[in-house]
Parts: sequence; C-alpha cells; structure tokens
Amino acid sequence: MLGVVVSDARFPLLRRPEGFERQRPSRCIPPPPPGSGRGPPRWPGMPAPVLCASCGSRRAALRRPKTGQALCRECFVAAFEAEVHGTVVSARLFQPGETVAIGASGGKDSTVLAHVLRLLNERHGYGLRLLLLSVDEGIAGYRDDSLAAVRRSQGSLGLPLHVVSYQELYGWSMDRIVRHVGLKNNCTFCGVFRRQALDRGAALLGADKIATGHNADDIAETVLMNFLRGDVGRLRRCADILTGSEGQLPRCKPLKHAYEKEIVLYAYFQGLDYFSTECVYSPNAYRGHTRALLKDLEATRPSTVADLVHSGERLAVREDVRMPTQGTCQRCGYLSSQPLCKACLLLEGLNRGLPRLGIGKTSRLQKALLGGEKPETSLQEEEGPRQAKRGPRAIDF
Ligand code: SF4
Ligand code: ZN
Repeated sequence: MLGVVVSDARFPLLRRPEGFERQRPSRCIPPPPPGSGRGPPRWPGMPAPVLCASCGSRRAALRRPKTGQALCRECFVAAFEAEVHGTVVSARLFQPGETVAIGASGGKDSTVLAHVLRLLNERHGYGLRLLLLSVDEGIAGYRDDSLAAVRRSQGSLGLPLHVVSYQELYGWSMDRIVRHVGLKNNCTFCGVFRRQALDRGAALLGADKIATGHNADDIAETVLMNFLRGDVGRLRRCADILTGSEGQLPRCKPLKHAYEKEIVLYAYFQGLDYFSTECVYSPNAYRGHTRALLKDLEATRPSTVADLVHSGERLAVREDVRMPTQGTCQRCGYLSSQPLCKACLLLEGLNRGLPRLGIGKTSRLQKALLGGEKPETSLQEEEGPRQAKRGPRAIDF
C-alpha cells in the first residue's frame, strides 16, 4: 500500500476530509509520479485540491469560519472588504467630509480596521479624513509594546497619529493605580478612563466620529456580560453599531459583523503587523469569564456569536423600566447620568487615598462630595462588602 502524506502546510486552514487519517511521513513515501509537471505532485488516492468556491480556479486556502465556504486568499480578502463596505454603507456610518478618529491599540482588530478603512475610503471615495488615536494607559510590558506596533503601522498607512495618556489626563498611570487598588477593580478604572480619554483625544483632534475595532465576538461577549450582570441600561445599546445620539461624540463599529477568526485571517493574509499579547492585568477581568463561556457555547453551536449579536439588536426594554437620564458632570463637564461622572469619582478616590470610593453604588457619596463633606470611611465600608458580594465589575464600551 502506498503511504500518503497530507501536509497541513499545503492546506493550512482546510479541514481534513472525513475518515482521512493523518499518517506519519515515512520511508514509504513514493517518488513523485512521473510526468506530473509543475505544481505539487499528486499520488494515486490523494484527494484533489479543493478549489475556491468563489472563483473556481484557484486552490482554496481556508474555510471561512462565518460561512463554511472554501475560498482562496484573494477571494477571501475581497469578500471581507466587501462585507465591511456593506456594513458601512447599509448603516450609513459616515458622511463625506467627516474627520474620523480610529481608536488604535496596536491589536489585530484596530490594525485591520485602520487598514480596511483607509483602503475603502480610497476605493469607494468615502471622502473621510482618517486619523489614528491611541490611549496610553501606562502599563509597562503591554501598552508600550503595542504602541510601538501602532507606530509601525502608522508608517505604512500614512495616517497621522495622536496619543493621549492616563498620566497626562488624570495624573495616574494604570501601573500606579494597580499598585493602589490591586487586581480586583483595575479594569473598572481602566475602562472608565479609556472611554473618556478616547473622547477627549478625539475632541482635541476635531474629530466628528470615533471608529473602534469591536468585532462580532466582542459584541456577543458584551451582550452576554450585560445580561449576566443585569445591566439593562447597557444591554439596551451595546449591540448598536452607531452610538452617541445623547450628545456624545458618535462612535461606530465598522467591524461589527466580522468574526474575530476572520479578522485574524485577514491580518495574516495581508501581512499586517499587530501586537497580540494580552494585558498583564487582564486575568481577573469579568469579561474573561464571559469570553470563556462564549467559546464553550460556540464549540457546540457555531452560530452563537451571530445569534447573540442578533439577540442584542432585537432586545426591547419594557417602557416602564427606568433608564438613567443623561446630563453632564458638574466637575468636568463630561456626559454623566449622575451629578459627578464615574471618572471624577474614581479619581477622587485615588487622590484621597480611598481607591474604592467610586466603586459600586455611589449616590450617597455623590451627595457627600457635592455638599463639600468629607466622605466617611464608613460610607466606603458600606459599599465595599456589597460590591465584594457582586464580584468585580469590568469594562464596557
Ligand atoms: Fe485595562 Fe483591564 Fe484591559 Fe488591562 S485588561 S487594558 S487593565 S481594561
Ligand atoms: Zn467628571
């Protein structure tokens, strides 16, 4: 019997045909069949190469996680770009002449977003002025390396880059915050500060809109996480592709329907340079548990991500459910449903040496601060155990 070697390198991302067992390379590999000409040799019994389901002429290089279609590199790249363009057009994400700040973290999502938006802007004449905007949280061994990736891709994209830092905006870096608060509520600080930092940076640049690299998996995770936390206010809007109707700087998610796996494949096929290490403070984030749950669900039902995004879009909140009303922070002027915004409260706690001050329910604390009272430690204690029972709250977007 002839030995057959199936090399994963030749069909890197295609599934092995059913019942086709891997065999070790061995001495029984026959020489190439005579007269096989150019291209990789095929021995008798070897399955014919799978051809691209779109062009029908090139060899398929992957099976799309989203559709199961076997596609060649070129057709996959074209399909991915066309889908993002379809999302931009159907959701009317941009208007000609707008300045769009792309939130650039150096990770795969924002790197692909910047690459695709620049390309589609030229290809389809969107008429946008694109900028890169990065936030430096001050996390040594993580953000400094990812910012280096942003700077490298900035060179190839030719887009202006602006970096805002927590240190410069709040006087605190995340490394220093973690030294004070530990690893329990760190992501609450980071998420609240990042959201404001992006808005402040974009306003500084005169941007009309912020585009973020959130993909379908991120949105599915957020829907699930808000559902698990019973956060109806966030649940109501977390699947929206465009937010900001309440006076905020509008934010959009052009990769909303792109699967994370396809973003990785696109970056790979386009040879994009991105940073893929996880934040050194991430293991305790609640989002991480939700992500693990989602991956388990996806393993048994591949459409879980798309289904959750769909659920988030279709959810309706009963009219008698009270929603927070948006106003502005009395201290910094940022959008807030309370007299003081969350960032000002968290900062107050840090600056007073009471880092847990702004965590959990803060209505009594708000009153105390606005009335010029010194918040008692007992107030902090009162909130502390309740928060501990609920578990850490994590970032949202
Ligand atoms: Fe910030 Fe937490 Fe994300 Fe790290 S994992 S960047 S600390 S939000
Ligand atoms: Zn404020």
